[in-house]
Amino acid sequence: MRLDLVIINGTLVDEYGSRPIDIGVVDGRVAQLATPGDLAATGRAELIDATGLWVLPGFVDPHVHCRAPDHPEREDFASGTAAAAAAGITTILEMPIADVGVTSPEILHARRKLAERDAHVDFGLFGAGGSIDRTLIHGLADAGACGYKIFTLEVPPDRRRSFEGIMVTREGELYHALSLIAETGLVCAVHAENDALLRIGREQARARGLTGADAYLTAHPQAAEAMAVAWLVVLAEATGARVHVVHVTSAWALDLLRLARRRGVAMTGEACPHYLLFDEETARRFGSWAKIAPPLRPATDREALWAALADGTLDFLASDHAPFLPEEKEIEDILAIPSGVPNLEAFPPLMLAAARDGRMPIHQMVGLLGARAARLYGLYPQKGALQPGSDADLVLYDPAANAQVRINTWQSRSRGSARIFDGIAYRGTILRTIVRGRTVYQQGRIVGPKGWGQMVRPQRPGSDAGP
Ligand SMILES: [Zn+2]
Repeated sequence: MRLDLVIINGTLVDEYGSRPIDIGVVDGRVAQLATPGDLAATGRAELIDATGLWVLPGFVDPHVHCRAPDHPEREDFASGTAAAAAAGITTILEMPIADVGVTSPEILHARRKLAERDAHVDFGLFGAGGSIDRTLIHGLADAGACGYKIFTLEVPPDRRRSFEGIMVTREGELYHALSLIAETGLVCAVHAENDALLRIGREQARARGLTGADAYLTAHPQAAEAMAVAWLVVLAEATGARVHVVHVTSAWALDLLRLARRRGVAMTGEACPHYLLFDEETARRFGSWAKIAPPLRPATDREALWAALADGTLDFLASDHAPFLPEEKEIEDILAIPSGVPNLEAFPPLMLAAARDGRMPIHQMVGLLGARAARLYGLYPQKGALQPGSDADLVLYDPAANAQVRINTWQSRSRGSARIFDGIAYRGTILRTIVRGRTVYQQGRIVGPKGWGQMVRPQRPGSDAGP
């Protein structure tokens, strides 16, 4: 067999462990995994010698906001997926929040066209999950949505169009929305903070005259997250929907996820790098630069998140990459500043380094960065795996290099807002990222063209509408 690409002498590190291996690629897919030396003489178009390097399955980031097309100055599919490629992320799942929210198959189709024109890596698209119109919810699934997104809180008036169909603040509406989503078999990702408690928190912060980080931390207490998760535990069981809690931040919420599991409820949760690397001390030191929703928590919550990743209470990692420009973060009233931080290019490198520094076995971390999210969203083993037949999405990683986060070198247009990550020293670097057999990033440069990215569609339970 003639191969398009052969990678020799590397060490494959996946969720099952590590072993020396040669990889042969044909038509963008893994064709052969062989003992080192076996593929050296095979006919091929391109050869990569990975001596001394780890070969990892391309990462899957199931929670990204490129937000195209409404704010190209912050990010679009080109810059957002360039940032992903630089981080070894070969598939992003894009949230439906952009002007306007992805509320219909037509809007999803338009978003798909935009990403197919611009993206450097593969992508999936979430639909808005807050509708109680059966035709729209099923229509989004049939159009290839990778899942749905719901926000359980109100957003400021100027962002309402972007959140159209996504905000659901009342229990009854949430029940009906989740009942419809359950019919599709797709996952519903939920930002869980109770709107009423957030209002009370904001009033208390203002009444006490708090400013800066203290105001924001008071306005978004752990109780608001726990209360929303508690509802979801009940509503997931009552409706049968596959509810996934995004960016879990507190030990309280984790206990409620464990309660769901004990009751046999199909609920899952994710952790984000900022909640694992930072805590309230960072929130106080960086003020508006560290304003993320929910907020950074005390160190005890941070440690509880690491324990929950290790014991399986949390299912995988996600970036929640949220691009805003520095001038948008430089407003005096912290309660009025948009929440979120751009972080794609810090995310996998810092998580791999944390694992190697003793947080968890490296193979477990690699699974948390790809295979596990791919399974939940019905993309495995096309994505998240290096097996014969999988897409040839892979990362060449130099475990011996010493590196430092330098946000001024990032691909993200909102790089200037990522100050909480700037200057962090770490071990190991991503040298090269390959998507379906083609190199898209190599040693600091985007080398693949815009538009190489393709949409991924979930395999739906009980349907053959797979990829
Ligand atoms: Zn988000």
